[in-house]
Amino acid sequence: MNSPVRAFRAVGGTPRFMASGSGAWLTDVDGERYVDLVGSWGPMLLGHAHPAVVEAVTAAAARGTSFGTPAEPEVLLAEEIVDRTPVDQVRLVSSGTEATMSAIRLARGFTGRDRIVKFSGCYHGHVDALLAEAGSGVVTLGIPGTPGVPAHVTADTIVLPYNDRAAVDAAFAEYGDQIAAVITEAAPGNMGIVPPEPGFNAHLARVCADHGALLVSDEVMTGFRAARSGHWELDGKVEGWRPDLITFGKVMGGGFPAAAFGGRAEIMDLLAPVGPVYQAGTLSGNPVAATAGWTTLRLATPQVYERLLATSEQVRRMVTEALSAAGVPHVVQSVGTMFSVFWGVTEPVRDFAGARRQDTDAYTAFFHAMLDAGVYLPPSAFEAWFLSAAHDPEIDSEPLTRLAEALPGAARAAAAAR
Ligand SMILES: *Cc1c(COP(=O)(O)O)cnc(C)c1O
Repeated sequence: MNSPVRAFRAVGGTPRFMASGSGAWLTDVDGERYVDLVGSWGPMLLGHAHPAVVEAVTAAAARGTSFGTPAEPEVLLAEEIVDRTPVDQVRLVSSGTEATMSAIRLARGFTGRDRIVKFSGCYHGHVDALLAEAGSGVVTLGIPGTPGVPAHVTADTIVLPYNDRAAVDAAFAEYGDQIAAVITEAAPGNMGIVPPEPGFNAHLARVCADHGALLVSDEVMTGFRAARSGHWELDGKVEGWRPDLITFGKVMGGGFPAAAFGGRAEIMDLLAPVGPVYQAGTLSGNPVAATAGWTTLRLATPQVYERLLATSEQVRRMVTEALSAAGVPHVVQSVGTMFSVFWGVTEPVRDFAGARRQDTDAYTAFFHAMLDAGVYLPPSAFEAWFLSAAHDPEIDSEPLTRLAEALPGAARAAAAAR
């Protein structure tokens, strides 16, 4: 395994080694086909091996895979991101982890302060200072803190319960003049989907502004996925505020290693070479990765998001019907086109403590029954389910037919495991 959650530790059994993907489907090395509801953990918005993306990437690779100079694809991708989102400028990097790490450094450089506020259950990549109570991957493995991270590195990290305005206010009352930034998932998706309560993100933006701290909104998962520009489109755009810095990844790489952070010009100008905050990468803005990302975003039209939302609503309905028929208590939560299922709970989940109350045994039974029936779900109860534009919303489409056939038995297996 090269990334721990893939190892099936949370659900047991043997991970499937995939040999190929096409549209909504994955095929493993034994030739078994699965409807894919993981989508490489988010990036595959258009489905696997989209012909136009494959063609563009193949042509880009034929022109040379890396130059170590500025090139056109990175400019096109940056322009597309700036066009869709409330950032003035972006810096391209190679992973979401690198994006949040660099955004934190920039926030500290800009404010001249060291403390960072994060929320329990939010995952921002494996950045040393941000691994405290970091949701899915860490919970799944039962790692309490993280060996290898010196105490002084996390000493400046303040971890608060999600959706808790009073806790935010209390932290700022005590440390307001020392806090460089609040970093939050725009809508958490790494403890299952836990939507921000109405006004929560706006509150963070206001408190940060009042105290001279920066709001870093992590849209690595939600960006170009929850909605066309990301989760901001569903709150800040409507309410009239914007984060100081935003991080992106996953969808914007089109299945390649590409990520970004961006924000207000005044802050971004502090980055080297214009400013003194150092940040660099040999493969940053790689022409093949940038071509994959740009092509994916160009193809991700408003119609694609409408279709994705329709499919998401249809699948949520099917799951709820099957679980209700089998008598499995559950809550389905969504933000835009993204959703997840909480097992064995009856109340909405608003924070990490709530998410951890779920019945993971029920999910384990459900997961394996679905896998046996040819549906590939995330191998952890604390993950979002991802669809693609290649999953038709029609109930009689091939992927949804496979799902409909698998669901009743899996729901009964979940009920029996409780
Ligand atoms: C996936 C993810 C990251 C980390 O991105 P990597 O490319 O895996 O390093 C950071 N933040 C959020 C919200 C994510 O979902």
